[in-house]
Amino acid sequence: MHTPEGFLPSHTLPAAMPAGSLAFAFREAKLLVGGTDDAPSIPTHAELGQMGLTGPVHYLGALGHAPCVAVALPETAPEPSGWRFAGLRSLFFKLPEPLLAIAARAFQIVEWDRTHCYCGRCGTPTRERQGERAKECPACGHVAFPRVSPAMMVLVTRGHEVLLARANRFPAAMFSALAGFVEPGETIEDCIRREVREEVGVEVANITYFASQSWAFPHSLMIAFTAEYAGGEIAPDATEIAEARWFACDAMPSLPPSVSIARRLIDATVRRLASERARS
Ligand SMILES: [Zn+2]
Repeated sequence: MHTPEGFLPSHTLPAAMPAGSLAFAFREAKLLVGGTDDAPSIPTHAELGQMGLTGPVHYLGALGHAPCVAVALPETAPEPSGWRFAGLRSLFFKLPEPLLAIAARAFQIVEWDRTHCYCGRCGTPTRERQGERAKECPACGHVAFPRVSPAMMVLVTRGHEVLLARANRFPAAMFSALAGFVEPGETIEDCIRREVREEVGVEVANITYFASQSWAFPHSLMIAFTAEYAGGEIAPDATEIAEARWFACDAMPSLPPSVSIARRLIDATVRRLASERARS
């Protein structure tokens, strides 16, 4: 997920909410939507008011001419007749992609709002900080910003083969690239070398950036790379990896769905290796 075309982000709420403002209202992890299962719709801020639903409002920015806000509804908010609360994942391929991307952004802001009501240092109720998206403690001055956790994904290549692994948490038979969260003190390249060594016991070189993807479950930024094999034998870490193998670029196993950056990384790399092999 990424910033949709024509979306102008901002955290400053307009003085008056214009008609047609869209409200991305969450009750816990679920988004309030109308319409049908196959064609869900997002309520306007005015419609939310007519339903009697309120909560802390965070301005997100404008999609074209439509201002967008995130609303954190209370856990006890009732489901209004004709509307429903839906998990974000259930809205993939149903909600238009720009709205889905803003919903994912709204979810992360609402989640941050909900988990930073009190100062993490002294426990005093926090307040919104003027001029930026942050919460501050009136007692000790501690400031908390929305959290984004960088993670890396890497597809290791060796000649015309790629290294794919099946994590214990994956559905049986599905293989993917390696991934892991950055630890304090690491660069992204440090993280790649450490994770590959820990997960499969292999060394890598020539780390090359591919693309990145915001992922709202719960607040990660996945940064994807390719890297070339530089030594070692595959020795999977049994706590995380059920199986890891080299796969020839024309013999791929079952892969993650196309919505994931993992699939785009694998498809693009396999295409490149296949064309290099054809030329050699
Ligand atoms: Zn404090």
